[in-house]
Amino acid sequence: MAKPGPHTIIQVALPVPLRRTFDYLPKPDTPVNLLQPGTRVKVPFGKRQLIGIVHGVIPHSSYGDDNLKTITGLLDDEAALGPDLVALCRWAADYYHHPLGDVYAHALPTLLRNKDESWEEITTRWKLTQKGRLIGLDQLGRAKRQLHAIEVLREHPEGLHQPLLKGFDIEAATLRALQEKGLVDQHEDRPPRQHWQRERLLAESPLTLNEEQRHALQPIVQCEGFRTFLLEGVTGSGKTEVYLQAIHHCLQQGKQAMVLVPEIGLTPQTLQRFQHRFAVPVVSFHSHLTDRERLTNWRKVRNGEAAIVLGTRSALLCPMENLGMIIVDEEHDLSYKQQEGFRYNARDLAVIRAQKLGVPVVLGSATPTLESLHNARSGRYEHLTLSRRAGDAMPPRFRVLDIRQKALTHGMAPELLTEMESRLQARQQVLVFINRRGYAPVLMCHDCGWFKECPHCDHRMTCHANPAHLHCHHCNHQLAIPRYCGHCKSTDLRPIGMGTERLEDNLTSLFPKFPVIRIDRDTTQRKQAMAKHLERIHSGEPCILVGTQMLAKGHHFPKVTLVAVCDIDAGLFAADFRATEHTAQLLLQVAGRAGRGADQGLVFLQTHQPGHPLLQTLLSAGYGEFATELCNERRLMGMPPFGYLALLRAESQDPRQASQFLNQVERWLQPMAQALGVEVWGPAPALMPKKARRFRFQLMLRGEQRPALQQLLKQAVKKIEQEAGNRLKWSVDVDPVTLD
Ligand code: ADP
Ligand code: ZN
Ligand code: ZN
Repeated sequence: MAKPGPHTIIQVALPVPLRRTFDYLPKPDTPVNLLQPGTRVKVPFGKRQLIGIVHGVIPHSSYGDDNLKTITGLLDDEAALGPDLVALCRWAADYYHHPLGDVYAHALPTLLRNKDESWEEITTRWKLTQKGRLIGLDQLGRAKRQLHAIEVLREHPEGLHQPLLKGFDIEAATLRALQEKGLVDQHEDRPPRQHWQRERLLAESPLTLNEEQRHALQPIVQCEGFRTFLLEGVTGSGKTEVYLQAIHHCLQQGKQAMVLVPEIGLTPQTLQRFQHRFAVPVVSFHSHLTDRERLTNWRKVRNGEAAIVLGTRSALLCPMENLGMIIVDEEHDLSYKQQEGFRYNARDLAVIRAQKLGVPVVLGSATPTLESLHNARSGRYEHLTLSRRAGDAMPPRFRVLDIRQKALTHGMAPELLTEMESRLQARQQVLVFINRRGYAPVLMCHDCGWFKECPHCDHRMTCHANPAHLHCHHCNHQLAIPRYCGHCKSTDLRPIGMGTERLEDNLTSLFPKFPVIRIDRDTTQRKQAMAKHLERIHSGEPCILVGTQMLAKGHHFPKVTLVAVCDIDAGLFAADFRATEHTAQLLLQVAGRAGRGADQGLVFLQTHQPGHPLLQTLLSAGYGEFATELCNERRLMGMPPFGYLALLRAESQDPRQASQFLNQVERWLQPMAQALGVEVWGPAPALMPKKARRFRFQLMLRGEQRPALQQLLKQAVKKIEQEAGNRLKWSVDVDPVTLD
């Protein structure tokens, strides 16, 4: 084994908020050939011990070779992160201007990030030493347990693993006592890697594709090398069936497949659909796994035991032996963008990863982002379309219900209630969508109009009924319900407006004979809660589902034939330039839950704005035409996809510090930006100027070309990092999806 020479310096990326690597010396016995990029090392850092990732080995440190500390130890025999992932992480750190060490940390399960544990599964085997084999048993005196252990081990000359030892009633303490006497030894074993088998891939036969599906599948399976496909298929058009068959083809080549789904789209049903189809191991990654389960799954993927990975955003950074295809379902979903820390977009990184590997990537959606549509329409992506629902299901009909001047019962028009009643009587299910959890968005004094604002945010507190309290949805601050008005002391405080809890109450009293199932963050927090709700819905009994956008995504509810959107109006007038796009996507996704079975679906939209151009275009001409109109607007404004954005955010408890800091940045940034043709706007207060006790400001950067914007960011971020030190919280957000 090669030992370190006099000039071996290890560059280590550490999970600290600094955009640089750190140099260390190897230990005298460190095998240099194992210092591959992607390998974990433990190093002293200040007073702490940190786990970092080897970045490279160099002959001389620019910090001077004499002042370097020595690593504490090497943690992997084989790099935890393979070359493919190392390259991806480096690209991402560069593009998102985020510290490399923290990017690597995202690619490791918590237990490998914070503990010395080996990434390879290691089992301990206890075996007799020569002394143990030869020693006379009488010499052990009256140590009965030790005697028993020796006798058992003599019958097993190769030694025994932990679980078997337990079976023989041999305890760890006994073995340690024997080890001290030099009678037994521990050996570490790596169980042989069980690769998935190519011989039998399918557990059930695939569906016969319809013509559109066949046309969509063909170019994907014929693709050799890198290509991005945008699979635009209306809800229920059988996109998933196309994915399944594309994956089958990929597995036939002996390669693994990765499927990304939105945060709340990974339901037990989704996982089952993949597990039922394939005879090879499918592993999943989602937020309900324990750290231990996550590590177990990660290992299976890393060592090639798993054939298919199905997971939410972070699964994209899973190291895979032999990845052959990536699928991003519901590519428009906002959960692909991490909104704090390392602000990456897993959809975009999926394309980069596929490009680096030279494999196809499929982005699927009924309502693609304008970015992806633009790429498809300009020919960079290959555009595949499914325009009809698969099987016998028909597209849902829309009915825009003008509720101006209408008498409403609990916010619902009489036509809607009649329709609900008749659907329920016909033993169908009804879904009522409202994108606001809690009881009511505000608790207001009827005498003077006072209401409680969150003391830490610029936002009113939401009224919750069960348990009764006021809740800030932005910082989680909670208060008891006040008994009287904070201004005039009146006790007449009334909940104003509607949230899921109140709607649930109202519907229960309007339809006492039918169960009402509420699905929002509050009713699904516990681990199995969502699964239980879904099970009930899938049992098919007539019922009313009430919920937020959690209900909108990806679910297949064959018995739901009526979807009601109580108030679409709020979404039509939001400040964010992407709000219109998001509202349209959400609306079509919710509507897409209707009529996925044999009966045609109906979608009721209640609005005070029946003539709103968004609704008009969307419903009469469809999403494609709507997207074209929106694209024309964006082109005029130079907004994405016709320009590139980045946000520099800063926040501080002091009301002035963050804005002063960004003002200062703006002053030196402006000339650099002008030289590169990048515009700098601001600093301006964020859409929510105060959140969780902090005052928030932002500078927006807009470039016509990506490279110029990137170049500016590179210079800016380095300087900001130095100037901010650790006195100010700041961040950079490349390709932001929301501006708040
Ligand atoms: P999407 O992913 O586009 O929402 P799915 O793949 O979930 O659509 O398909 C919707 C329904 O249509 C599912 O019940 C699925 O089993 C069925 N389906 C899909 N493709 C076919 C096909 N070729 N023939 C018959 N049924 C199909
Ligand atoms: Zn009052
Ligand atoms: Zn708050």
